[in-house]
Amino acid sequence: MYDCIIIGKGPAGISSALYIKRAGFNCLVIGKDGGNLVKNELIQNYYGIEEISGEELLLKGIKQIEKLGVEVITDEVIEIEYNNSFTVKTINNIYNSKTIILATGNTRKTLNINGIKEFEGKGISYCAVCDGFFYKNKEVAVIGNGEYAINEVKHLLPIVKKVTLLTNGKELKNKNSEINIDTREIKQFLGETRLQEIEFKDNEKLKVDGVFIAIGTATSTDLAQKLGVLIKENKIAVNDKMQTNINGLYAAGDCIGGLLQISKAVYEGAKAGLSVVEYLKG
Ligand SMILES: Cc1cc2nc3c(=O)[nH]c(=O)nc-3n(C[C@H](O)[C@H](O)[C@H](O)COP(=O)(O)OP(=O)(O)OC[C@H]3O[C@@H](n4cnc5c(N)ncnc54)[C@H](O)[C@@H]3O)c2cc1C
Repeated sequence: MYDCIIIGKGPAGISSALYIKRAGFNCLVIGKDGGNLVKNELIQNYYGIEEISGEELLLKGIKQIEKLGVEVITDEVIEIEYNNSFTVKTINNIYNSKTIILATGNTRKTLNINGIKEFEGKGISYCAVCDGFFYKNKEVAVIGNGEYAINEVKHLLPIVKKVTLLTNGKELKNKNSEINIDTREIKQFLGETRLQEIEFKDNEKLKVDGVFIAIGTATSTDLAQKLGVLIKENKIAVNDKMQTNINGLYAAGDCIGGLLQISKAVYEGAKAGLSVVEYLKG
């Protein structure tokens, strides 16, 4: 029986493990992949580090907690059950724990179009606030047809040379005359090592330096919902100790919403870790 199982090996999960392990409790970190952190091509806004890639920061974090003796495994959690303690089912195993921290990040919706995966972090981004700066005076496109997409366009307008909103065959939900709109369906994304062009289904092409996907924010709340956790606006609801409405179940980072940045995920992970320690001490 673990004292705590942390689901997610991103900044929130790793930060919480640091506090739990250093307080003398054992914990297991389970993560299915690099989460949103590895989609960060270049991070330039984290305290004390001038420049680092998401992948490097992720590996540094994992190394730091492994050095303390925390077990970090790659697996996907498919279910959590609660009966005074928690049972965590993954694709490969079943684990038991006294407490859980959900640090599963924010699963953004993507598109099933050729080239998307290939150019993620190489011209395809999911966050105008994070990456818009890298496209100063360049030509970009935003893909989406809702308010979220329009917001991303508005964020990019003062930074980039030109921004086109691509609705990919969908109707724009809220017409906006200030925005350059193209409704054609997209066939594929093309480029050598980075994204260079978008090809439409009519075989015409649009040259772009970058594309921002903004087709909505998918829930990362499925695991929590099954346990009866309170969800507000599609995010896991927590109190000021990062505790959900279920005893012993905490959440931190992008999965609880708010500012989707590493600094906030690290802060909340620390807070959740300290709350778990307090809970375990009774
Ligand atoms: C393109 C891009 C650029 C960005 N640039 C910046 C930037 O410059 N600066 C900045 O501060 N922030 C940036 N961000 C935001 C930053 O990456 C996130 O805020 C941060 O990673 C959130 O940390 P987290 O720990 O909450 O989630 P994540 O880092 O997303 O980690 C979530 C973890 O949960 C795991 N997980 C999810 N579901 C399961 C499951 N069922 N079973 C097991 N594991 C699961 C994932 O595998 C992953 O390990 C950017 C984001 C993107 C997408």
